[in-house]
Amino acid sequence: MIKVLVAGFKGRMGNTTVQMVNKNKDFELTAVYDPRATESNLNEVSDYQELDVPVYNQLQQINGAEVDVWIDFTSPDSVFENVKYALEQRISPIVGTTGLTDDQVSQLQALAKKEKIGGLIAPNFGISAVLLMQFAQQAAKYLPDVEIIEMHHNNKLDAPSGTALNTAKLISKVRKEKVQGNPQEKEVLPGARGADYEGMKIHSVRLPGYVAHEQVLFGGQGEALTIRQDSFDRISFMSGVAVAVSKIQNYNELFVGLENIL
Ligand code: NAP
Repeated sequence: MIKVLVAGFKGRMGNTTVQMVNKNKDFELTAVYDPRATESNLNEVSDYQELDVPVYNQLQQINGAEVDVWIDFTSPDSVFENVKYALEQRISPIVGTTGLTDDQVSQLQALAKKEKIGGLIAPNFGISAVLLMQFAQQAAKYLPDVEIIEMHHNNKLDAPSGTALNTAKLISKVRKEKVQGNPQEKEVLPGARGADYEGMKIHSVRLPGYVAHEQVLFGGQGEALTIRQDSFDRISFMSGVAVAVSKIQNYNELFVGLENIL
């Protein structure tokens, strides 16, 4: 049995993750964490009355001996400290939280290497998003003019989404930095052309009703290609999280991207 902690267990993703871990016969939910939790046991939460799992609200309460894998679906401003603490406790982190900076990722990768701990930061655990990123990277070799539109629910904290940023980073590995559009263009309304990553424009839509969706648009001479993926339900991320939990202890480095362990 793999002993699992879920950080951010009261959130939308954390709640779905608790249910997935609880149903998986190879996983044992040994703790949950949220700094604002007032309960001491999960059975005090109405949805989980049948579970006997300690609730921690301070990092120092969490002991590496009782947790193998730390699943993090928290917030951009807390994920770095959480994952650093997990690695220091020799717990393998599976990180779904987006918003880590490149410098923070590098620091965590160095720490994982030093401690020889396997871990994964996945901007997206959905197979459709992983495939979209791979297909987009392939298409950009032939169609280097690209813009990204990502659409999420209106409670999302970070913009652009981790998946959109990762898509742009993967594309930038196969195409040279490029100024797109008319060099003389002027934004009549500031921000109209979106964010810029090495010349690629990224547009973030935030609307109620949406979950997580992305379109990568390529334009060429007299033709266009659109690649789109839709995550309609948070359950779609759970098979990726489960695979990561099952495999991650076989590694001794911190990967970025689910495709690295599939
Ligand atoms: P959410 O509903 O706001 O949940 C976040 C939860 O984390 C909240 O309950 C929050 O508590 C709690 N929290 C805040 N600080 C914390 C800390 N230091 N330690 C532990 N818990 C803490 O957000 P969500 O929709 O579940 O999304 C969570 C993250 O996952 C976001 O970064 C989102 O972009 C990402 N995400 C990733 C994927 C993927 O496939 N990788 C898919 C969907 C979402 P309070 O409400 O009290 O602050």
